[in-house]
Amino acid sequence: MKEDPSVRAKRTIDVVNPRTGCVDYHVTPPTKREIADVCASLRSAQSAWCDVGVEARAAALMRWADEIMRDHAQIAAAECLDTGRYRLAAESPAGLAATLRAWAVKAPSVIEAAALEGRSSAVTTIGFRTNCVPFELVGVISPWNFPLAMSLVDAVPALLAGCAVIIKPSEVAPRFVEPLVRTLERVPELASVVRYVVGGAETGRELIDNVDAVCFTGSVSTGRRVAEQCGRRLIPAFMELGGKDPAIVTAEADLERAVAAVLRGAVFATGQMCFSVERVYVSESIHDAFVDRLVESCEALALNYPDIHRGHIGPFILPRQAALVDEQIDDAIERGARLRTGGKSQILGGGRYMRPTVLTDVTHDMKIMREETFGPVIPVMRYGSVDEAVRLANDSMFGLSAAVIAATERAAADIGVRLHAGGVSLQDTTLNGAVLRDAEKNSFKQSGIGPSRIGSSALTRFLRKQALITNAGSCAALQDLGEYQPNG
Ligand code: NAD
Repeated sequence: MKEDPSVRAKRTIDVVNPRTGCVDYHVTPPTKREIADVCASLRSAQSAWCDVGVEARAAALMRWADEIMRDHAQIAAAECLDTGRYRLAAESPAGLAATLRAWAVKAPSVIEAAALEGRSSAVTTIGFRTNCVPFELVGVISPWNFPLAMSLVDAVPALLAGCAVIIKPSEVAPRFVEPLVRTLERVPELASVVRYVVGGAETGRELIDNVDAVCFTGSVSTGRRVAEQCGRRLIPAFMELGGKDPAIVTAEADLERAVAAVLRGAVFATGQMCFSVERVYVSESIHDAFVDRLVESCEALALNYPDIHRGHIGPFILPRQAALVDEQIDDAIERGARLRTGGKSQILGGGRYMRPTVLTDVTHDMKIMREETFGPVIPVMRYGSVDEAVRLANDSMFGLSAAVIAATERAAADIGVRLHAGGVSLQDTTLNGAVLRDAEKNSFKQSGIGPSRIGSSALTRFLRKQALITNAGSCAALQDLGEYQPNG
């Protein structure tokens, strides 16, 4: 039955352009029925996708990478509108293509290594081997900060594992989907096992009700709701949530290096990165010199306005986020923080921008030191001893990542291992992004749940292990039991 256009119009979501503040795009989320149908069609295509083997799946992803590069300009243009960023958007399709290719090369050996073969240590006639069984259908729910990359970071290893994938990107930044899907359609075997559905929370909830495992990237509060829904269905929920990442700068650190690393880590992408530096602890012996140099470096940066091709700090993607950051700055100043440079957001050409902002004299009573900021704000706090710095850095509900800049890598590592965070950058900040396919890391505390989403575990988490167990010896009679005790 055809849907009444007025009902459909009511479901339509307006999408705001971050540079103009105007609505210039709309999405109409699928109905409950449409989502169920998409999931049924993905499930029916999945077994063939699984049966062709990992080499054929890798070849399909290689071809998709080529198609993405063919249309990179259109995809980048859409992501530029989604995010208000020119350079990062321009580089994004090539980054994705490189990720697809690297995963395609790596996947066969990861899958091979996941399968064990051996003999029972209890009964030598009994042998076993592992059959890796992918989840049929994985649901991905992603955020708006890096719309293209975040929608595929979990989907690519899931596809290589042999799963079908349904992806719900953020309704805040969905323009990239149309040009991306056009490239996908040119690789039909892949198009039959990957679908995007665009919508908000309701679409996310429907998706969860139709899949076998969920990969969620987003805020802690939404993550909790998603995990609860997955818990009710008893399906795995892999959660990558927010952060409030600390950086510790010791008395012996190279000042220039520390300032450069902290500044980049805190304001890259306007601070709208889950593993941005959001708290800085500096030894009191260099605190003032560090702050002076940091302020100077901040003031040398320019807003990426009015010319999108120039400057360093783009607009907030979500206007509501700017208001939240303003509120944190107000709260900090009311409680005694000193604003050293920058300040609250300003509206320019309809977009919301914020200069790199440094706050000192901050305390852990302030929201700016406790809640995720997701903006270009650098609160700096002095510490007396390394023990105090470690205690302050660990005084957070988050445990995504952290950084330590000390005299030497060894000295930084000695502090780094004491931090309750899944990824610790030494002598630099925000290095997580560089080891996406290589290292392994978990998100600690409320920053996430589940196996590493980077490295080999990113793929093996989608494989359920089926043990095929054979007995080459005689079949034990009930009376013989006692020679071995099956455990279970
Ligand atoms: P969000 O939690 O508001 O939304 C994330 C996604 O969840 C969106 O697609 C949204 O539509 C969907 N959603 C909302 N309610 C839902 C529900 N009830 N059921 C199912 N889906 C629902 O997050 P955001 O504002 O889009 O993104 C910013 C957050 O993402 C920050 O907290 C940031 O730290 C986090 N993030 C984390 C990582 C990481 O790897 N840990 C990476 C990027 C962003």
